[in-house]
Amino acid sequence: MPARILNGNQIREEIYSDLRSEIESLRAAGVQPGLATVLVGDDPASRMYVSSKIAACERLGLLGFGYTPAASITSDELLTLVAELNANNSVDGILVQLPLPKHVDSKRVLESVDPAKDVDGFHPTNLGLLVTGRPGLVACTPSGVMEILRRCAIPIEGANAVVVGRSDIVGKPMALLLMNANATVTICHSKTRDLPGVIRRADIVVAAMGRAGMIAADWIRPGATVIDVGTTRVTDPGRAAQLFVNFPERLARFREKGFAVVGDVHPDALQVAGAITPVPGGVGPLTIAMLMSNTVKAARLRRGIASARAMSSPAKP
Ligand code: NAP
Repeated sequence: MPARILNGNQIREEIYSDLRSEIESLRAAGVQPGLATVLVGDDPASRMYVSSKIAACERLGLLGFGYTPAASITSDELLTLVAELNANNSVDGILVQLPLPKHVDSKRVLESVDPAKDVDGFHPTNLGLLVTGRPGLVACTPSGVMEILRRCAIPIEGANAVVVGRSDIVGKPMALLLMNANATVTICHSKTRDLPGVIRRADIVVAAMGRAGMIAADWIRPGATVIDVGTTRVTDPGRAAQLFVNFPERLARFREKGFAVVGDVHPDALQVAGAITPVPGGVGPLTIAMLMSNTVKAARLRRGIASARAMSSPAKP
C-alpha cells in the first residue's frame, strides 16, 4: 500500500489560519508584526525567495520592509543597516538573504542581528537556547518539519530518528528539536559508515543532504516516516529515467520541462514508507510559513505578550 502523503501545502494553510487569529489578537493590542528583508545584489534565485517571503507577509497582514542594497555594499555598510533595523521598533524580524557576496563577512553580519529579531534562528544565542531546551527563535526548515510531524500525529517520543545531514541551518537544529521532543536521535553525514544500515533502523528519517534520490527504497524500514528536506534540480535525462522508472507521469513532465525538482529519497520509497513528504510540496511550503510564525513570535516575545494559543494543534490523521 502506498505511504500516506504528508501534504506540506495543506499544513501551511493550517498554520496560516492559526497565525491569522494570533495576528488579530496582536492587532487588538496595537501591534502589527513587521519583517525586514535584506536582499543584497540581484541573484535571481534570492530575489525569488525574498519576493515569496514578502508575498506571505502581505497575505497575512504583516508589515514588510524590503531593503535591496547593491552587490557592492561593504561589510561595514551592511552592519550599519542591520544596526538601524535592530533599533527600529516597527521591525520585529530581520532576514538577511543568503548567500551574501564573497567580499561581505557573512558571519559578522548574521551575528550582528539582534537575537530577539533573528527570525531565521541562525544567531549563536538562539542556537544556544535550542541546545539548552529554552524558548527562542528556531531555524525555519527544521521547525517546519516538527510542525509536519506534530500536526500529522507522527509519534516522536521514544522513536528512533535518523537525521541525514549536519548543516547549521537544517541538520543540527533538526536533531536538537527531535531530541528535545524525546526521540532517540542519530545524526549521519558524509563520513557515516553503513548509511543504509543506520537508516534501516529508523522510525523517522529526515533527509537533508541535497543528493537527488540517493536514499533507496530498500534503505527504508517498512512503515517508517520519511521527511525529505532535500531539493535538487535534476536535468540529466538518464538520472530522471532511473528516478521516475515507476512514475511515468513525472518522467513525461520532466521531458516537457527539461528538469525536475527531486528530494534525497528515491521516489520508489512511496511503496515502503508508512508516511512520506513529497518533493515538491512537502517541507518546502513550511519554511516560509515558519518564517511568518517566527516573526509573529518575535513580536510577542519582544513585548512580553503571551501566545493566544499553542502553536502545534493536535493532528488529524
Ligand atoms: P549542506 O549545508 O550542503 O549540508 C549537507 C549535509 O549532507 C552535510 O552535513 C553533508 O555531510 C551531508 N551529506 C552530503 N552528502 C552525503 C552523503 N553522501 N552521505 C551522507 N551525508 C551526506 O545542505 P543544507 O543547507 O543542510 O541543505 C540540505 C538540503 O536541503 C539541500 O538539498 C537544500 O536545498 C535543502 N533545503 C531545503 C529547504 C526547504 O525549504 N525545502 C530548506 C533548506 C535546505 P558533511 O557535513 O560530512 O559534509
